[in-house]
Amino acid sequence: MATPRRPTGQPAPDLAPAGASPLSTLAGVGPRIAEKLAARGLGTLQDLWLQLPRGYEDRTALTPMRALQPGVAAQVEGRVEAVERGFRYRPMLRVALGDDSRTTVVLRFFHFRAAQAAQFQPGVRVRAYGTPRPGQRGLEIVHPSYTLLGDDDDAGLGDRLDPVYPTVDGVGPATMKRLIAQALDRLPGDDVLELLPAPLLRAQRLPGLREALLTVHRPPRDADVSALLAGTHPAQRRLAFEELLAHHLSMRGQRLARQGDAAAPLADDRLAARLRERLPFTLTAAQERVLAEVRADLARPVPMLRLVQGDVGSGKTVVAAMAALLAAAEGRQAALMAPTELLAEQHLGNLRAWLEPLGVELAWLAGKVTGRGRSAALARVADGRARVVVGTHALMQQGVAFHDLALAIIDEQHRFGVHQRLALRDKGGEGGRVPHQLVMTATPIPRTLAMAAYADLDVSAIDELPPGRTPVQTVVLAEGRRPELIERIRAACAEGRQAYWVCTIIDESDEVVAQAAQATFEALSAALPGLRVGLVHGRMKAAEKQAAMAGFTQGDVDLLVATTVIEVGVDVPNASLMVIENAERLGLAQLHQLRGRVGRGSEASTCVLLYQPPLSRMARERLETMRATSDGFVIAEKDLELRGPGELLGTRQTGLAAFRVADLARDAGMLPLVHELGEGLLRDDPALAARLVARWVGGATRYASA
Ligand code: ADP
Ligand code: MG
Repeated sequence: MATPRRPTGQPAPDLAPAGASPLSTLAGVGPRIAEKLAARGLGTLQDLWLQLPRGYEDRTALTPMRALQPGVAAQVEGRVEAVERGFRYRPMLRVALGDDSRTTVVLRFFHFRAAQAAQFQPGVRVRAYGTPRPGQRGLEIVHPSYTLLGDDDDAGLGDRLDPVYPTVDGVGPATMKRLIAQALDRLPGDDVLELLPAPLLRAQRLPGLREALLTVHRPPRDADVSALLAGTHPAQRRLAFEELLAHHLSMRGQRLARQGDAAAPLADDRLAARLRERLPFTLTAAQERVLAEVRADLARPVPMLRLVQGDVGSGKTVVAAMAALLAAAEGRQAALMAPTELLAEQHLGNLRAWLEPLGVELAWLAGKVTGRGRSAALARVADGRARVVVGTHALMQQGVAFHDLALAIIDEQHRFGVHQRLALRDKGGEGGRVPHQLVMTATPIPRTLAMAAYADLDVSAIDELPPGRTPVQTVVLAEGRRPELIERIRAACAEGRQAYWVCTIIDESDEVVAQAAQATFEALSAALPGLRVGLVHGRMKAAEKQAAMAGFTQGDVDLLVATTVIEVGVDVPNASLMVIENAERLGLAQLHQLRGRVGRGSEASTCVLLYQPPLSRMARERLETMRATSDGFVIAEKDLELRGPGELLGTRQTGLAAFRVADLARDAGMLPLVHELGEGLLRDDPALAARLVARWVGGATRYASA
C-alpha cells in the first residue's frame, strides 16, 4: 500500500493541547491522587483517554438464578432468604438470595462492615452482579457488587455496558471512573486528535479516534456487546491497530537510529576456518545458514543486532564460538555472557577446548572470581591479551573495562533484562564504536510474536537438530506410580545410563526448593542403595555446584537430583532419562527447556512428567502438548494460546506486556499491515511517526533500544 501523505502546505497539527494537560486540571485530583496516578504512568488527560477498560459488566439485563452458569458473570435480583455470619477462621457473611425461578444464590463476603451486614434483613430486595462459582450449597458469588432496592422501587436496568478499568493502587474504582469521564468530556475532535490517514481507516472500515475512544469508554446502547466483551469491536481494533503501529514505529525507529552507529567490521575468517577443520562434527545446514547471516552482518561497519533462535540442542554455542573467532582474528575482543554460572562455566569449558589450541586466550569473569584471580582477569581484559571473555552478569559490572570489545554475545537472552543487554553494549565505545550484538535464545517465539517483539532485531533460526539424535519419548505419570518409576531408574542406571530427577516447587523461595531437593535426594539415595546419587541446587556454594555437575558430566554420578538450576543449557549427552516432579505446575516453556537436557546423545531418551492429580484443564493440555510434540515452535504457539503473549515474553524482555489494547494473540492478523504502513511512515513522515510513538509508547521507548 502506498503511504498516504499529508497534503503539502498543511502543517501537521500539534499534539492536541488538551491531551497534554496535567491531571491536576481535573476536579478531585490533589497531589496525593496525582502521585498515585503518576506511579502508574498516568500524567496527562491523554493518558486517561488511553486508559481503556479491561472489561465490561453487563447490567443491561437480569438473569434468572436458575439460568446462572458457573464462571459467567451475570446480574440477578431476588429477596434475602437467610443470613449467616461466621467468624470461625475469618469473618464471613453469607446472604442467601432467592428469586422467582425458585433458585437460591449465596452472596459471600469476607470483608464487610457491621452496618453493611445489618442491611441484609430477610425479605429485602437485592440486585447483585458478579461471577457465580460452585459453592457448598449451590452457586455463590464472592464479593458481588450490589444495590438494595426498596419494595416498590422500580429501578430500571442499565442501558449500556459498564466499563471496568484496570485498578490503580490508592485510587478507588469509582474515583477512577469519575476522572476518566471528566477527561473524556474534554476529548477534542478528530481534526486535532486523528493521526491515522483517512484512506486507511476507510479501507479497513475502522472508526476515527474520537469515535473509537468514546465507543470503548462509553459503549452506546446499540453497541455489539459480544464483540466488545471479546475485544474485537471495530473501535477496539482501531485502537489496537494504532497501538501496534506505534510500538512498531518505536522499535524500527530505534533500529534505524542504530544504523547511524559505527562498529568495527569483522571479516577475517581464518581462525573460524581452522576451528571448523578441527571440529569432530560437520555443521548442520541450518548452522551454516545462520553463520553466513552472522558473518555478513559482522563484515559491515554498522553494529549487528541479531537474534538467533534455536531449539535446545540445536548447536548455538559453536556458532557463537565462530563469531567470537571473527573478532579475535581481527585482534579485537568478544564477550560471551550467560545467565547462570553453571552455564557460563560450561561455555568456558567448550571455548577453551575449541579456541585455546588456536592460540586464542580466554578470560573468565563470574561472581565467584574474586581477589587476585579477578584482578588478573581484569588486567588481561583491559589490555586486550584476553581475546574472548566468558562470564555471567559479572561481565557488565563497573570496573570491567575492555580493551576493544567488538562483539557481545548474550546467551539465553530471555533470562536477562534489557538493561543488562544495554550495559554490555555500552562497554564498547572506543572511538564511538558500538559492539556488534549476537543474542541467542532457546525459547522459540511464535512468528507472529517475533514480528512484533523483535522489530528492532534481525532474526535467524537454527531450525534443525544435529543428526543422530533420537527423539525423546515423553511419558506422563501420576504421582502414585513413583515406586515403579524408581525401579525403572534403577534398571536404566544399571545399564550405564544417567538420569536427572528434577524437583520443582513453584512460588517458593530458593531455600524451600533447596530443602525439597535435599529431602528428595535423601529419599532416593535410600531407595536406590546401589546407585551413586548427586545433588545440585541454587543454594549450594558455587564450588559445590560445580563439583556436583562435574561428577555427573564425568559419569561418576548415576542420578542427579536437581532443581531447575539445570534448566538452562546444561549439556551431558550420556544423560538419557529425566523425571520432572510436579510437572503440572510448570509452564510449557520451562518444561521444554528442562526436557532439552536429555536426548542429546545417540541413546533413546525418556522424559517422565510426574504429576499430582487432579489435573486442571490447562495443566492437562500442557502435559498433553509435551507428550505429543518436541518441536519448540509448536510448543511456543501452544504456550501463546494458553498463556497469552504478556506472560510468554515477560515485561523484562520487551515492553510488550505493556500493551493497553492490543493483544498479540488476538490481533496478530493486523501485523502485516502495521509493518507496511509503518515502513512507509518512517520513510515519508517521520514527524508523524514520532507523534504516534509519543502518544502510545512514550517513556517506554528507551527499553526498546536495548
Ligand atoms: P544449544 O543450541 O542448546 O546451546 P549446544 O550448543 O549446547 O546447543 O549443542 C548441543 C550439543 O550438540 C553439544 O554437545 C554440541 O557440541 C553438539 N553439536 C553442535 N553442533 C553439532 C553438529 N553440527 N553435529 C553434531 N553435534 C553438534
Ligand atoms: Mg546453549
